[in-house]
Amino acid sequence: MGSSPTPHPRSVRDRAVYQEPAPGLDKDNPFQSMMERFDVAADILELDEGLYEYLSSTARIHITSVPVRMDDGTLQVFEGYRVIHNNVLGPSKGGIRFAPDVNLDEMKALAAWMTWKCAVVGVPFGGAKGGIRCTPKEMSPGELERLTRRYTANLIDVFGPEKDIPAPDMNTNEQIMAWLLDTYSMHMRRTETAVVTGKPFLIGGSRGRREATGRGVMITTLAAMERIGLHASQSTVAVQGFGNVGSVAAQLLREKGCTIVAISDVSGGYYNANGIDIDAALTYTKGHDQQLAGFPGAEPITNQELLALEVDVLAPCAKENQITGKNAADVKAKIIAEGANGPTTPEADDILNKNGVLVIPDILANAGGVTVSYFEWVQDRQGYFWTEDRVNRRLDRMMRRAFRKVYDTAEEHDISLRIGAYVLAIKKVADALQLRGIYA
Ligand code: NAD
Repeated sequence: MGSSPTPHPRSVRDRAVYQEPAPGLDKDNPFQSMMERFDVAADILELDEGLYEYLSSTARIHITSVPVRMDDGTLQVFEGYRVIHNNVLGPSKGGIRFAPDVNLDEMKALAAWMTWKCAVVGVPFGGAKGGIRCTPKEMSPGELERLTRRYTANLIDVFGPEKDIPAPDMNTNEQIMAWLLDTYSMHMRRTETAVVTGKPFLIGGSRGRREATGRGVMITTLAAMERIGLHASQSTVAVQGFGNVGSVAAQLLREKGCTIVAISDVSGGYYNANGIDIDAALTYTKGHDQQLAGFPGAEPITNQELLALEVDVLAPCAKENQITGKNAADVKAKIIAEGANGPTTPEADDILNKNGVLVIPDILANAGGVTVSYFEWVQDRQGYFWTEDRVNRRLDRMMRRAFRKVYDTAEEHDISLRIGAYVLAIKKVADALQLRGIYA
C-alpha cells in the first residue's frame, strides 16, 4: 500500500470545522487526528466543498447539567454530553463514557469515528457519543445509578430506538445500560429494550456481544495475514491492553494457532517467547484486581518494549496515542491490528506506511462491537434471539466483507488501509446524503 498524499491547504474548509473556543487543538487531540485522515480521504474523493462542510460538522450537541444527591447528603452537579455527529444512514449509535477528562472535543471525535465505523462495516447507523465528566471510581453504586438515571431523563427526547441508541464505553457497563433502559422505559410507559445495546442478556442483550470487539480484531487480523501470506500457526502476536478487547483478541488468536508472545496492561508488559498461557493470565487477573502485575507465566517488560517486539502482529488494544512519531520507527510487526480507538497518531501513520507495516485501522479492526450491537438492536426489535453461533457467523461474514472492501479501495487508490476505510465510509455517507437531499 502506498503512503497517503498530503492534503491541500484549504481556508474555507478550515473554517467549516466547528472548533471549541478553548482549549486549543494540539497534535494529540483526537478530533484533529480524525480530521487529518478525513481531509486526506476527502481530497481523494474530490469531495464537494458543501459536502465536506456537512460531513465534518456535528449534527447536534447536547450538554446537560446532571444534579445528583450524593450518599453524604450533599448535592453535586456533573456535566453530561451527548454528541450526534450524523444520522444520514440511520439512527445514531455510540457509547457513553464516565471519566474525569470527558470533554466536548473528545466527544465530537468519537462521535464522528462512530459514523465512519458504522459505514465501513455496513450497519445502518449514524455516529454519536456521550459522556459524563465524573470520577466513577470514587462514586458508590447508588450515586452512579442516580447519575445515570438523571442523565437519561435529561436526554429523554434525544434517545430512542429509532433516534439515538447508546452503548457502554469507558467505565460504563451492562448495569449502567440496564438503568438507562429502565429510566427510558419508565418515561415511555413501556419496556423499550432496543433503546440501548450492551445490556444484560436477561433484559434483551445479545449472545456474543461481550466478545464481539475482540472477535472482530481476530477476524480482521486473520484476513490481513492471508493477504500477506502469513499462517496463524507460524505467527507471533503481541497484545497491548488486557481488558475486554485485548484479552478476547489474544484468546481467539491463540485458538486460531497464533503464539501470543506478549501481553500487557496498565501495570506493564509480560513476555514469553514460547507463548503465554492466556487462560492462565485471565485466571490470574481475576484474583488480582483485574491486573497482570506479578503474573508468573512470563518475564516483565515495559509497554514501550512490547510495542517494539519482533513479532508478526501487534494489537494495540488499550488506549489512544500509543504509537506516535517518537516510537513508530521502532515497530517491527508486519501487521498492526487496532483494537483500541485511535492508538496510532497521523505522524506515526506516515512512518508505518513508509516501513511497509499493514495497519488495520480502528474503524475496521474494532468494528465488531458495533456490529453485534446492531444485531442486538435487530433482535430486540424482532423479539427473537439468536444463538451465539449465529451471531458469530454473521459477525464473521460482515467483518470479512468489510475488510475486503477496505483492502480493495486501498489498492484501487494506492493508499493505506486507514485512508481506504475513510474513503469507503465518507463516500457511502456522502452518497446517502445526496440521495436524501438537503431538507428545506
Ligand atoms: P478495558 O477497560 O476493558 O481494558 C483496557 C485495558 O488497557 C486494561 O487492561 C488496562 O489495564 C489497559 N491499559 C490502560 N492503560 C494502559 C497503558 N498505558 N498501557 C498498557 N495497557 C493499558 O477497555 P476495553 O473495552 O478493552 O477497550 C480498550 C480499547 O478498545 C479502548 O480504546 C476502547 O475505546 C476500544 N474499543 C472497545 C470496544 C468494546 O466493545 N469494549 C469497542 C470498540 C473499541
